[in-house]
Amino acid sequence: MKGAVSFLLIALLSAAPALAQSLPERSEHVVQYRISVALDPAKHELTGKQTLTWRNPSATDVVSELQFHLYLNAFKNTKSTFVRESGGQLRGDRMARDGWGWIDITSIATASGADLKPTLAFIQPDDGNPDDQTVVKATLPEPVPPGGSVTLDIAFVSKLPQVFARTGYKDDFYLVGQWFPKLGVYEPAGMRGRETGGWNCHQFHATSEFYADFGSYAVEITVPSDYVLGATGERKSQRTNGNGTTTYLYEQADIHDFAWTADPDYVVVKATFSATQDVTPAEYARIAKQLGRTLDQVKLSDVDITVLLQPDHRPQAQRHVDAAKAGLKWYGLWYGRYPYKTLTVVDPAPGAAGAGGMEYPTFITAGSAWMFNYWPFDRIRAVEFVTVHEFGHQFWYGMVANNEFEEAWLDEGLNTWSTSKAMVAAYGPDATMVEFLGFKLGDQDVNRASNDPAGRYNRILARSWDYTPSGDYGFYSYFKPSLVLGTLEGYLGEQTMARLMRTYHERWRFKHPRSEDFFSLVNEVTGQDWSWYFDQVVRGTDIVDYDIGSAVSRRVRVPRGVFGDGAARKTVSGADAEKQDAAAAKAKREMFESTVVVRRSGGVRLPVDVAFKFEGKPVERLSWDGRDTTKTFRFARSEKLEWVDVDPDRKILLDVNWVNNGRRLDPDARPAASWTARWLFLLQNLFATLGLL
Ligand SMILES: [Zn+2]
Repeated sequence: MKGAVSFLLIALLSAAPALAQSLPERSEHVVQYRISVALDPAKHELTGKQTLTWRNPSATDVVSELQFHLYLNAFKNTKSTFVRESGGQLRGDRMARDGWGWIDITSIATASGADLKPTLAFIQPDDGNPDDQTVVKATLPEPVPPGGSVTLDIAFVSKLPQVFARTGYKDDFYLVGQWFPKLGVYEPAGMRGRETGGWNCHQFHATSEFYADFGSYAVEITVPSDYVLGATGERKSQRTNGNGTTTYLYEQADIHDFAWTADPDYVVVKATFSATQDVTPAEYARIAKQLGRTLDQVKLSDVDITVLLQPDHRPQAQRHVDAAKAGLKWYGLWYGRYPYKTLTVVDPAPGAAGAGGMEYPTFITAGSAWMFNYWPFDRIRAVEFVTVHEFGHQFWYGMVANNEFEEAWLDEGLNTWSTSKAMVAAYGPDATMVEFLGFKLGDQDVNRASNDPAGRYNRILARSWDYTPSGDYGFYSYFKPSLVLGTLEGYLGEQTMARLMRTYHERWRFKHPRSEDFFSLVNEVTGQDWSWYFDQVVRGTDIVDYDIGSAVSRRVRVPRGVFGDGAARKTVSGADAEKQDAAAAKAKREMFESTVVVRRSGGVRLPVDVAFKFEGKPVERLSWDGRDTTKTFRFARSEKLEWVDVDPDRKILLDVNWVNNGRRLDPDARPAASWTARWLFLLQNLFATLGLL
């Protein structure tokens, strides 16, 4: 007995971590950046010195080559891969004429003094474009052994572009992102499914974002003293230099990128997210119960919020603060405490929209316009939506750091879905996008509107620069994945979905997952194999569409005509039959034959519920596995069928058309083409124009 009990205990204890995994507190530190940089506003140039230590994360590989991203070279000339792919236009923004940007490594040496400059060579691992200079390799005089490290001293000059594609200047506004020589990720064998170790260091593409290793940053930034500065991490010190400039020191650990901003015009708005005042005890209790975690495990911590606002946008200050708090609260409760002490929200200058809607560790850029000060545009929750979304990237990509080049859906898709949830939690259901004149619209509605029945050519799981046309990147990285997750939630239910997402975050916080890791976790959490689902909707290209092919409900009438032969021949006259039918109706003895054909017009096969409503009876549901192209349901009942509805709860958000899901059998007019459709169209265009998505 005793032996059996302790065996059971051991089994239970060893199973426990998978069920209630604690939140990792810190990342591995593969890189350490110590940078000192000065801004020359007259030339829009940065001069920087960088001491970089890299630790070889492999247990077996000897590494003699380093690969760096030089992202700013994407803006060097029209021959770069980025400009070729984008045609100088991105996210509704256009590259300024002659607004070029570039980065030069002026010196690079090991700490022991070996000069690596002669070994530098541009490489183009993705497209072989010899004119692209966004990746450079350096060869080390002595290879780095497994687990060993190397320290380099690098000097660089960066010419910032006029704001385009997230980074640059506009007059005296600076948003400085991807501005220093940044190491790619050395992936040892086994990491993200790799067979052999090697660098993952893609060129900068029009539709791609980023991928980098975790570590610590300490960055000294020198700017004119009248500029207001904001940056990733915590401000540790500042000193005036006596020459009209001030130097600020920022530090942060457990991050994989560093961005900063400077503008003399910023209005600084400070606020604190309070873990005790901004979340009620009842909310903590509810979330802990939903997630199956202890109160301690869902407890949040205080965060200093700084909003750097354009003077014209003063009336929106509280909206930015409230949205930042909504993000800290809901993402924190659901996925795990935001572990950093600061959050900076940047409101880009007018005309610098290209810098808006972007995320860096502890530092996000929102997006707004003066018109959102005023009715009716103040009822469009664009300010809130963008701030919550960009904040959400602290979790999806910031901490759970997938490769954005190769699997953008893992950050943009998970985050688009999470943004919807957070907007609903903070602002109420169906009101997350627009609420005025009695009209409400949620942003999953907007995502659904982008699901084109003709779009059967691309897939979610693709490298971001492979989309043709490149505009498909948006749908397949943001909207479709959000619908995939929403549909999955429809199948799993809210609680299981919440636990799944929590577990995924806990397990991959401060790590680099790939799609396969997400899929296998779904199987693990649900105890079922979901590959049939992900194979179709993430790897596959086809669409989901269920509709009613036909629905008839006919009264069974008394047979009429001539029956039998010879002496037995008998005629039932029309008049007699009508009389009998009338008598049956009066006595409520009529019978109806109802036949419904439900169709699967999309190629994706998903199980689906069908609801049937017979006169005077409660709604009945039957399920269909959706494998065949049609399914016929027949009923012989004493009630007439009133209506039929496939996927009556509208759980399958992936369905490209819900208008054809239901059918009334009496000739009642169906609702005319809704105002919703027109609104969706207008809104999507508005958001695309503003470059906010
Ligand atoms: Zn995003």
